[in-house]
Amino acid sequence: MSTSAQIGVTGLAVMGRNLARNFARNGFSVAVHNRTAAKTRALVEEFGHEGTFVAAESAEEFVAALERPRRLVVMVKAGEPTDAVIREFAPLLEPGDMIIDGGNAHFADTRRREKELREQGIHFVGTGVSGGEEGALNGPSIMPGGSVESYATLGPMLEKISAKAADGTPCVTHCGPDGAGHFVKMVHNGIEYADMQLIAEAYHLLREVAGYSPAEIADIFRTWNRGRLDSYLIEITAEVLSHVDAATGKPFVDVVQDRAEQKGTGRWTVQIALDLGVPVSGIAEAVFARSLSGHTALREASRDLAGPTAQPLGEAEKAAFADQVEQALYASKIVSYTQGFHEIQAGSEEYGWDIDLGAVAAIWRGGCIIRAAFLDRIRAAYDARADLPSLLSDKGFAEEIATAQDDWRAVLVAATQQGVPTPGFSAALAYYDALRAERLPAALTQGQRDFFGAHTYRRTDREGSFHTLWGGDR
Ligand code: NAP
Repeated sequence: MSTSAQIGVTGLAVMGRNLARNFARNGFSVAVHNRTAAKTRALVEEFGHEGTFVAAESAEEFVAALERPRRLVVMVKAGEPTDAVIREFAPLLEPGDMIIDGGNAHFADTRRREKELREQGIHFVGTGVSGGEEGALNGPSIMPGGSVESYATLGPMLEKISAKAADGTPCVTHCGPDGAGHFVKMVHNGIEYADMQLIAEAYHLLREVAGYSPAEIADIFRTWNRGRLDSYLIEITAEVLSHVDAATGKPFVDVVQDRAEQKGTGRWTVQIALDLGVPVSGIAEAVFARSLSGHTALREASRDLAGPTAQPLGEAEKAAFADQVEQALYASKIVSYTQGFHEIQAGSEEYGWDIDLGAVAAIWRGGCIIRAAFLDRIRAAYDARADLPSLLSDKGFAEEIATAQDDWRAVLVAATQQGVPTPGFSAALAYYDALRAERLPAALTQGQRDFFGAHTYRRTDREGSFHTLWGGDR
């Protein structure tokens, strides 16, 4: 067996197999390994002609096939399987070797694993990989964490296999130490949840309030995709909406059960945001909307509750309403990204990662699920001012929201009057209005807290903490 593979991939399900092929197609020699060896053999039989593969049946063979320092990519099921693989391989490795975990790990697990392996001199590189199986093969967006030292040799390899943005820049950046990469990937997925929810709400409004058919809405999304909403998710939405079910001849979207599932990264984004005290209401509403859709019995029991039934608009008003929905969708999208980037900024401060937000926006421009023309604007906003307090502080985004807001509000009025739920659009507008408010009712909340719990409050006119003797002498 050759002993010179430049990189190894263990875990050859859809993601690992395609990532291994991507490395091989880019001229790297790749050692491949899988717990069930038949998958390793199948990969080499089917795709061996694409490059140099070294098939390894055992962990020992796999490790022996790698040039030093060893670079070992783990693409197994996230969670305990990752720990099992580390337990199996770490004893076979030497100081300076790298374990690159490309699975969807929780960043706290990555921090733990990185610390444990660092004690053995092994670099553990928690790496977010986005783009699904197609991205893994043809170029994903890659978000590595781990040591600067590991990135020195790994970075150029990842740059080669990554997606490239329209300006040719590789969609990979060293996010920061230990769990930074997996944290960034987690928030990427949270933003993906919010984007999908907002698109779903736009569809729902166009269907229920405007009365458009799925095929007509697909055309509207295609038009939007040629403008500022140009993105992978808008593009595939048009494809899904124009798809006709072969068995029934009905629109595909009408034969699919309306219960959205989830794997967990959206939920993690919200859980961590709660811990960090960052309001990510758009992402939270997206996660809750999926949960609510799955409560079939609750929905069934609530079907007779009073409320309006949407009355579709007349032909003359439909197109104007669609334009308003585009404005509402775009404004809400700006707010979701504002919240997501706030969470990355807060995580970076909490864990001392020093994440470059402009670089994160840049690597999401290609390869990943949320890739969009819009991300180039975010990159430019952070490049112009790295310490931007919020994306809404960027003059360009603030002006666009200023232009969109009348339509955004009009869409929400229509949605409310017609009884169409828009949790994402509504949460985004509430966030926007709360940020711009001169005074928030939080002053009253503080008064209540002081009344029942003597929690004290701060005054607008004097320094210090105060407590009022409620009902007694002041
Ligand atoms: P997966 O279904 O998550 O995992 C299957 C792979 O894990 C198989 O190779 C399996 O080996 C291996 N495995 C499971 N338990 C193991 C254990 N205890 N010890 C050793 N190997 C074990 O595969 P996937 O969809 O390709 O995803 C791989 C990773 O990428 C996951 O962490 C996933 O979250 C992440 N990811 C997936 C996507 C996606 O679109 N699918 C996108 C980004 C990231 P056997 O063949 O022997 O069962």
